[in-house]
Amino acid sequence: MPVHKTSNIYLDNSAGKPVDSRVVDSMLPYLKTSFGNPSSLHKYGQEAKQALDNSREKIADLIGAEKAETIIFTSGATESNNLAIKGTATRNRKKGNKILTSAVEHISVINSCKSLIRQGFQTTFSPVDSFGFLDLEKFEENIDDQTKLVSIVYANGEIGTIQPIKKISEIVHKKDAYLHVDATAACGQIQIDVQKEGIDMMTISSNDFYGPRGVGALYIKESIRIDPLIHGGGQERGLRSGTENVPSIVGFGKAAEIARVELKSEGKRLIKIRDDIIHGLMGSIPYTFLNGHPIRRLPDNVSLRFSFIEGESILLSLAMFGVFASSGSACTAKTLQPSHVLLAMGLKHEEAHGSLMITLGRQNTQKDADYIKEIMPAIIERLRSMSPLTPKELKR
Ligand code: PMP
Repeated sequence: MPVHKTSNIYLDNSAGKPVDSRVVDSMLPYLKTSFGNPSSLHKYGQEAKQALDNSREKIADLIGAEKAETIIFTSGATESNNLAIKGTATRNRKKGNKILTSAVEHISVINSCKSLIRQGFQTTFSPVDSFGFLDLEKFEENIDDQTKLVSIVYANGEIGTIQPIKKISEIVHKKDAYLHVDATAACGQIQIDVQKEGIDMMTISSNDFYGPRGVGALYIKESIRIDPLIHGGGQERGLRSGTENVPSIVGFGKAAEIARVELKSEGKRLIKIRDDIIHGLMGSIPYTFLNGHPIRRLPDNVSLRFSFIEGESILLSLAMFGVFASSGSACTAKTLQPSHVLLAMGLKHEEAHGSLMITLGRQNTQKDADYIKEIMPAIIERLRSMSPLTPKELKR
């Protein structure tokens, strides 16, 4: 077993990312000198409004939106998902009361749908295959003339599988429903074009591409009308009242601008490191399996399961070596239940419990991959030697 390491290797980037220093610099004037309220008509207000509009423009550019005005600022992805789902469902209640989503959604989508069920709406959770891809045949069968809203994750951050959104939008529009896409984990990592892919509404989040926390956006195609969740002074086209968080929105815009420029080269770099870790660990440790699809997956995502042991015990061992990763989505970590995403892909409870999720970021390099590959075989062997589930022939 290699010696314990003291320096930190952070591999939990989907749970939280450092804010890019260029983003911090862009925000500082709006914390110090340019503090106006964008609704004020004087010079300070107009300066703040200009800053909001610039950010809207940059975010629209990142996602191929037709107009800056299609971007509504929110407090983050959870709020954007709530707004899209509840706002569309209640606005269209008279036309139909069914919502279709998938079995691999983020908890903020699932719980928004559940709150609507309590108000008399119906929700169907469409199944996925063993890679986590939506079963498109069953999906189409699940849309009827009462279905007005479909909400599908662009890529689930836990398994990395990227859904065929264009095909999905064609099915949804043939059936005359709206498509909301939760692109929180995908946007800024892979190229997304809302117009080309036929997306009606899309959730994005600033910190997922190195912007500040507590700010996100919902893209809403201009022709679509939804109900607001928060009522007040009518900011953000009446869809999200309350004085806008100007410094964070400025940082969000800067992060979007950087992501647009660096997305391709950074994606390539991360895929190389990602695949090196996946192939390295699968090659050196028996009974190791990949969660999600090997190619149609997010550049940052390594999700592996190791038979006979628990994900949490792997995390504790890794932490002793100064390596910090995760066993699943940070948002459902409190439940201690096996991941609903892994279960939906057909894994047994004990298989779902043995998962390790590494999410890479800009600060990670090949050196980190080499270190993981060096320490993991001994960690897994040691844990398996203590596990009652390990077959005798694997124990030394
Ligand atoms: N959707 C997805 C796909 C996510 O991965 C997350 C978590 N990063 C969220 C929504 C919720 O994001 P937040 O907690 O920032 O609101």
